[in-house]
Amino acid sequence: MVRENSNLFNTFTIMAEIYKNKNNFLVIKLNDKEAAELNFGIEVTALHNICLCGTCNNECSSEDIYYIACLNEVMCKDCINDFVNNSTHYDDIESLEYEVEHFNFITDRLGINAHAIISSNDIILYNKDKTKEHFKHYDK
Ligand SMILES: [Zn+2]
Repeated sequence: MVRENSNLFNTFTIMAEIYKNKNNFLVIKLNDKEAAELNFGIEVTALHNICLCGTCNNECSSEDIYYIACLNEVMCKDCINDFVNNSTHYDDIESLEYEVEHFNFITDRLGINAHAIISSNDIILYNKDKTKEHFKHYDK
């Protein structure tokens, strides 16, 4: 896996993790430095980045910033929980391709060893230990 800007990543510890949720949206939990690296937020100083929620426009907690791949946006903890619990996860191929493309770009960028692929209108997530985890989209 190619990691872009690898020199920048050596300056801080990667804390980002995949945020599992019942509707299987591809979501990554970030801290403020990771959000800044992804060009989300407003840099105040080199060490301080204010990240505003894309939904409520309030400032996200520095350790609780959620990147949601299907929207290519960041949200605060309250808004991401509302979104993943109450939004429809569209499973048409165009929507899934958009979501997976953005998710894989971000995991590469942050050095997270996980990639998603589309298979029969489902998303399959490959974890660090190379096992597959099946993400089911709808209770049909
Ligand atoms: Zn919010």
